[in-house]
Amino acid sequence: MSENGCIFCKIASGEIGAEVVHDEEGVLAFVDIDGKAPVHVLVIPKEHVSSLEEVGRLPAGVVKRILEVAQEVAEKMDVAGSGYAFRINNGRDAGQEVFHLHAHVMGGRKMGMP
Ligand code: AMP
Ligand code: ZN
Repeated sequence: MSENGCIFCKIASGEIGAEVVHDEEGVLAFVDIDGKAPVHVLVIPKEHVSSLEEVGRLPAGVVKRILEVAQEVAEKMDVAGSGYAFRINNGRDAGQEVFHLHAHVMGGRKMGMP
């Protein structure tokens, strides 16, 4: 299900373009438009859930694939060996801007804690 006006739903449906690095049935990965690291990719479920608050609505297989796709993307982008941050900003204090659950995969430089 997609949600009206949700930018990541529009990317998932192809209505808005993105630099896709991985595409499969329930999960999409694309380059962050405002990269904060040499490698900065977002991994999303194609189905709309706003945040971890609603993660239980996703099939377990999709949740697992988000983690696996993060690793696959890191390998593809050549940062798996050096390491990368896998980060979900959840809610206001984390600075979540887009309320369609997404995981950041960031690497290519030292990624510290904020
Ligand atoms: P967050 O703070 O976790 O909600 O981060 C949202 C991220 O989405 C930011 O890093 C934005 O740069 C990124 N973003 C927003 N719009 C787009 C877009 N159209 N394509 C790719 N990344 C986007
Ligand atoms: Zn959405």
